[in-house]
Amino acid sequence: MSVDTMYLILYNYFQWRQCRCTQKINTILVMSDTLVLNHDGMPLSMLPPSVIDWQLAVKLLYLNKVMVIKEYDDWTVRSQRMELKVPSIVMTKRYVRPRQKVLFNRKMVYLRDNYTCQYCGEQFQAKDLTLDHVKPKSRGGGSSWSNLVTCCGTCNWLKGAKVIEPLTVPKEPNYWQMVKAAKNIIPYSLRDPAWGEYLGYDDDSSKAVNE
Ligand SMILES: [Zn+2]
Repeated sequence: MSVDTMYLILYNYFQWRQCRCTQKINTILVMSDTLVLNHDGMPLSMLPPSVIDWQLAVKLLYLNKVMVIKEYDDWTVRSQRMELKVPSIVMTKRYVRPRQKVLFNRKMVYLRDNYTCQYCGEQFQAKDLTLDHVKPKSRGGGSSWSNLVTCCGTCNWLKGAKVIEPLTVPKEPNYWQMVKAAKNIIPYSLRDPAWGEYLGYDDDSSKAVNE
């Protein structure tokens, strides 16, 4: 298996689940089992975090594509022939050039705008937000980073087909701006608190699921 194939497989396994939380705007539950680091010790991806399930981690280990950095002390899997501690953190044996392009989708536009309506300036939960075309579709406005902004239901209704200047001129964000935005706004629940050090989350912003 080539490194590129491995990279694609990893990405297919990334899980980025959202749940609603009454006190917090959004909580990303990083529920998968094993954090994958690149050969330089940085996570293979930060947006979303490169986390895979233990079965894939074991497979990559067996294929000699990754090495174990940390195991779970209290989690062992057994087959008829072998017994193995589940890896909590693995590192690729070769450096994989990271892809740092921000996906263009609804969630990413909300994140760029800090979950804040770009007309009234209030912050909302994702379920109360929508996307607004600054230049309406009926006037030829397209769906792009520079023409879509986060908008609450009320402002969306009031605005209708009018053209109103949003609070911030919308533009395509860069990858690291979005990583920073995610850190500021999205509390992560980590399977293993040890991941926090690699993902750059301190104890206040991350919480072990197993606690
Ligand atoms: Zn609004």
